[in-house]
Formats: sequence, C-alpha cells, structure tokens
Amino acid sequence: QGGSTVSITVVGASGDLAKKKIFPALFALFYEGCLPEHFAVFGYARSKMSDEELRTMISRTLTCRIDKRENCGDKMEHFLQRCFYQSGQYNSEEEFAELDRKLKEKEAGRVPNRLFYLSIPPNIFVDVVRSASRTASSSGGWTRFIVEKPFGRDSESSGELTRSLKKHLAEEQIFRIDHYLGKELVENLSVLRFSNLVFEPLWSRNYIRNVQLIFSEDFGTDGRGGYFDNYGIIRDIMQNHLLQILALFAMETPVSLDAEDIRNEKVKVLRSMRQLKLEDVVVGQYKGHVKGGKSYPGYADDPTVPKGSITPTFAAAALFIDNARWDGVPFLMKAGKALHTRRAEIRVQFRSVPGNLYRRNIGSSDLDQATNELVLRVQPDEAIYLKINNKVPGLGMRLDRSNLNLLYSERYPREIPDAYERLLLDAIAGERRLFIRSDELDAAWAIFTPVLRQLEDKRVAPELYPYGSRGPVGAHYLAANYNVRWGDISSDDS
Ligand code: NAP
Repeated sequence: QGGSTVSITVVGASGDLAKKKIFPALFALFYEGCLPEHFAVFGYARSKMSDEELRTMISRTLTCRIDKRENCGDKMEHFLQRCFYQSGQYNSEEEFAELDRKLKEKEAGRVPNRLFYLSIPPNIFVDVVRSASRTASSSGGWTRFIVEKPFGRDSESSGELTRSLKKHLAEEQIFRIDHYLGKELVENLSVLRFSNLVFEPLWSRNYIRNVQLIFSEDFGTDGRGGYFDNYGIIRDIMQNHLLQILALFAMETPVSLDAEDIRNEKVKVLRSMRQLKLEDVVVGQYKGHVKGGKSYPGYADDPTVPKGSITPTFAAAALFIDNARWDGVPFLMKAGKALHTRRAEIRVQFRSVPGNLYRRNIGSSDLDQATNELVLRVQPDEAIYLKINNKVPGLGMRLDRSNLNLLYSERYPREIPDAYERLLLDAIAGERRLFIRSDELDAAWAIFTPVLRQLEDKRVAPELYPYGSRGPVGAHYLAANYNVRWGDISSDDS
C-alpha cells in the first residue's frame, strides 16, 4: 500500500508523565483529526502488560473537552484500538528489535515514520537511544526522539549527554521538549510583539524598567521529593522554563518564523547574558506550617528527601543581557514551591512618564509606582492586561490605575489545548521551533552553572519560609538592590 504512516512509541509508558500528559494529548490530537490517517501508538517499558492492559490503563486518563463530548466514547474506542504494547529492558537491542517487528506489522509496507518519546529517568536516555536507533529506526522514513528534561544538571553533564545522544542521532532528530514553550501565552508572546505596532517600539531599555518572570506553585513535593532533591528549583524551573521565556521575550526580530531563524535569535540573547552571580541569587526552602487548624509539612519532612537537605525549593535571581537593547535592564526571576498561589506570569514594568503633568493627581504619593505594567499570565486563567493611569470619572481630577484586560476565558471561551498537544503535533510535523537546540542548551547552562556550583560548594543555607507564604523576604531585598518591586504582590493587581 502507498502513503506514509507515523508510529509514536512512548518509552516509559507505565510512568506518571505518560499517563498524565502524553497519552491524553495523543488522544486529543486524534479527536481533533490532527493525527495522520495511518498511525499507531506503542507503549514500551519494563512492566509486563498486554495490549489490552495498556488500553485499560490509558482509558482511565482520557477525557473529552467540555465543548466536544459528541461521539467521544466511540473516538476513544477507535484510538485505543490503535494502541499497542511492547515490554522490554531499556538497553536491550533484542527487545527493541521485537518492537521493530511489531511496528513493521502495523506500518504494512507504507513509508514508516517513527517518533520515540523518552518519558523515562534521564540516566537511561542514552541506553534507549542507542538500542532504539540501532534496531528500531525507520528505514525509508524519519526517526525522531523527543527527550524530556532534565538535560543534565550543569554544563558538563549536559554537554556529555548531548555528545552521547549525537553518537547515535543527528541534531535534527533530537527534540528536547520544554513544555512551557507549548503554552498558549508563550506562543503568543511573539505575536504580541511582532504584529502590533504599539509594543515593539517600546521593547527596550529606553522604555522598560525591568522584566519579571514569576513561577509559583501552591503545593510542595508531597512525598515525591526524591527526584527534585537532586535538582532543586533553579535547575527544575529557572534554567529551562523561565530562561526560555526570557529568550523569546528579549530576542531581536527573527529573519522569519522558521525554527532555525528563531532559535538563532534565542541563542544570541542567551550568549549575551552575564553569568549569574551568587550575590544576585536568593534561595529558600519551605518549612512546615499550621494554618486554619491544618498542618502542612515542610520540604525536610518529605520522607523521600535526604536528611539535612539544603536543596532550594524557592529561588529569586537578577539576570542581565549585555546587548544594546537591554543593557542595564534587570530581568528578575522568581520560582518557588509551596507558595500562597499557583501562577506563572511575565510582568513588564515600564519607566515613569518624564515630567508627568498629572503627578499631583495620582493618588499614590509614590509616582514611581504609577507606571504602566504589562502582564502576561501564562497560567492559570490565561490573560494579558495592561495597567494604565486613568481619570476616575467625576468632576474632580483624580487618577487611578486600571487594567485593559484581555481575559482568555471571556474572549476565547473554548478550552485551550494542552502544551503537550501542540508539541507532539509539531514533532510529528518536523517543526522544531518550540524545541531546544544543542547550542541553546549549552548557552543556557553557561549562565547558571557557576552559581549552582558555588551554592553547592559553599553549602549556602536556604532561607526558610512557611508553606503557603509569599516566600523568603530575601527576594524583596534582592529586587530592591535593583530598584524593583515585585509586581505580583502589589495591592492593585487583578
Ligand atoms: P517515572 O514515572 O518515574 O518513570 C517513567 C517510567 O520509567 C516508569 O514507569 C518505569 O517504567 C521507568 N523507570 C522508572 N525508574 C526507573 C529506573 N530507575 N530505571 C529504569 N527505568 C525506570 O517518570 P515520569 O514522572 O513519568 O517522568 C518521565 C520523564 O519526564 C522524566 O525524565 C521526568 O524528569 C520528565 N518530566 C516529568 C514530568 C511529570 O509531570 N511527571 C514533568 C516534566 C518532565 P518500568 O518500570 O515499567 O520500566
């Protein structure tokens, strides 16, 4: 038979990420008619399972979008019939050869394209890539590997991982996933900048005072701190998710929307950044707290966390881009677990209006605080809002700050696809724009590696903060050093 086919093999199919994100995203794509006509989904892991058992496992996690309930049961059944399982060791060429045989059976003589999603702990990435590339690569079509973070834990280990992967794969076969890049608001960042006249001309040190990238979770490690403890919040969130957003935010206009053009611009930003200094970092760790009669455990109480761990669950950092556009503008990052709210956002604080005619009418005595601020709320409840000074209606002349507000749930009531859907679809289509290239990764690690080493060598003790609080007070002092106030805690925030 003619035509081509795509097989997606989820390696580590029995795991948490596969169940929670990957299979549901594949089903959502199938439901939307975004998967090719001929496709098969394979699970691969050491656990013993039949095809039927895999289907039962997957079916428990599938849902239909609220606005798309029609025929959902039938669609699920059709999808599940295309799911198969192969059990095997991660370093076994024989068992990947067995997978190859099964894949060929489903491919039925069509041009075979194969996508492997490595949803496994990082220490076995290379084993899988070696075995799968040797005995389960496509002949005649493409073979791609999606790799999940962490991509090493510093420049050295990341470089080593890249070199090992490249022994078996070409750069264009490696799709390093950072699911933040698949988020709707992050995708929209470039649209906002490059297709509206009113933002791009202001996008520089001339008008922007500081940029804040904020990530907070309102829960702790909940008994799964073992993995986290080896990495900490800087590696888990800042070096990848927040830094990727920063690069997109700050890059020059790319030549085109092609992946290589965009990634070239991102690399330029990252390579223009100063190495982060120890004095520009504040680290924290949450401690137990009793609130409303309920007690919340501290990080150190998590039984999977080694005793006496000084791994940061919170960090704030001030970063700088030494180029013509951003010279001297602080880019402040803040990321933490077990804080008072769950949120990810980008905040852009503009300079104050020189010679403001209305300085006397602005309610706050601090004119400096009455500046414009643009907020892109990435999650939850996606929104873009711009704080402006506005006349309070009435006979007098009093000004206050109001929001020009684009709330996605009101403007675009349909459910927003999960980031994994977009990224899987892109990987199938060979669109690399939202995946991280090796040189981007090297540049990202170069910024953080020295400070990570210093934190560990000097055994810098994290500042303790209560579970559910706003985090360590040190973050405020750090911001104050650069004349910045965190926007997410100001009283007029929406
Ligand atoms: P996981 O559940 O711990 O592991 C996935 C599968 O890998 C397991 O079901 C297990 O399958 C196999 N496995 C686990 N530990 C192993 C070991 N020590 N040696 C060999 N095989 C082992 O991991 P996950 O949470 O799904 O995450 C998968 C990958 O995605 C990781 O790299 C993680 O860092 C990354 N990630 C996860 C999330 C998330 O929300 N979970 C988010 C972002 C990134 P068998 O025993 O059946 O072989």
